[in-house]
Amino acid sequence: MNALDISIAGGGVGGLTAAIALQRSGHRVTVYEQALQWMRVGADVNLTPNVVRALDGFQRPISERIRREGAQPTFRISRDWDTSRETSRLGMGNVAQDQYGAPQVTIHRADLLAALAAEVTAGTVRFGKRIRSLTQNDSGVTLEFEDGDSARHDLLVGADGIHSRVRAALFGEESPRFTGVVSYRSAVPTERVRDVPEIESFTKWWGPSPDVQIVTFPLSQGRETFVFATTGQPSWTEESWTTAGDVNELREVYRDFHPDARKLLEACDSVMKSALYEREPLARWSVGRVTLLGDACHPMLPFMAQGAGMAIEDAIVLGRALAPLSQTTDASTGPSIESALLSYETTRRERTARIQIGSRGNQWMRGPGNADWVYGYDAWNTPFNNNLIDASTQQETA
Ligand SMILES: Cc1cc2nc3c(=O)[nH]c(=O)nc-3n(C[C@H](O)[C@H](O)[C@H](O)COP(=O)(O)OP(=O)(O)OC[C@H]3O[C@@H](n4cnc5c(N)ncnc54)[C@H](O)[C@@H]3O)c2cc1C
Repeated sequence: MNALDISIAGGGVGGLTAAIALQRSGHRVTVYEQALQWMRVGADVNLTPNVVRALDGFQRPISERIRREGAQPTFRISRDWDTSRETSRLGMGNVAQDQYGAPQVTIHRADLLAALAAEVTAGTVRFGKRIRSLTQNDSGVTLEFEDGDSARHDLLVGADGIHSRVRAALFGEESPRFTGVVSYRSAVPTERVRDVPEIESFTKWWGPSPDVQIVTFPLSQGRETFVFATTGQPSWTEESWTTAGDVNELREVYRDFHPDARKLLEACDSVMKSALYEREPLARWSVGRVTLLGDACHPMLPFMAQGAGMAIEDAIVLGRALAPLSQTTDASTGPSIESALLSYETTRRERTARIQIGSRGNQWMRGPGNADWVYGYDAWNTPFNNNLIDASTQQETA
């Protein structure tokens, strides 16, 4: 057997899912995470039916744990910001289970990370290891860390997020673009907003322009209601998931929204404010023995709720693409690392580019539309696409 010695840069949602997928494909994996430990930073992660079904492929206990610790919105509802008129509705619980094989689950990012971390082999994650640079040749990849250490592996997966060092090493430095949109995030006790109609649903209040909206859904088994609101802002200097915002500013921005939407903002005691960044779809993700995954290659606006989901789908397809390499007894007859990575990226690029561009346009499911191409995707069975695709030509689909 030819188990590969695989390194992953970043122990976020994508990196941990990739570690599970690659270990189950028979490989040895080391995850290098810059943080000293996982902290309860961030808030919601939205796992739509395509993503829950992807995680279900790992079977228990991940499936059970995300359902136990998260919440399951009953519907996905779109409303007009001023009149509250309903413009679209999708069943998300049992209906999605029947239609797509899984419900939607909304969960705290830290709870999802904990559920994933519990499934990687002990000792897989090395904390406090910030990758500074990398070099590769025909036999492997050498990583240099900020602390002066170095390590050599058969291949490297860059799952190091929107500011990816690995991406910069492969394709050059290029800063993500501030979109001119900022977001406010808060979680309120559901008891306080119980009288808002269908509070147990995922509801999007579409504003007067594409950058203005309020989204709410249940978290923490429904004990909390998550409030996410965005608006335009000309500039942004500070970048963090923990910057405090001003609740009065939040209420002022949405003062003309329907009273039910405003009730949710009135219930917020505090709010986090962050800027939204994105990049253009990349034409290539892999060079030789190094590839990218998740936000490192396709950071996207959150308007289709697919950022974490695309990282999870990537990880599963990557695990499938590299599985044959551990199963062959003669490495000279099986697929090469380079061809397996190319197969992975060509299978994933079209879908992720389409969702990146659709998220930017922010019209998807505003009215009745096609949810199947997003929610019906099956990362475990999607056929491998070995044709090279020009990601820049993909168009938004409403
Ligand atoms: C702290 C944090 C909080 C977040 N909070 C939210 C939220 O509230 N809502 C939301 O929708 N999305 C949030 N996100 C983003 C969301 O989790 C991602 O968009 C999505 O899950 C894609 O995951 P990813 O694994 O590609 O990237 P990420 O989840 O961003 O993970 C990247 C990981 O790589 C590590 N890393 C970065 N550079 C290096 C390096 N040079 N060497 C080693 N490790 C490195 C980072 O510490 C991080 O753990 C957050 C991300 C982070 C890092």
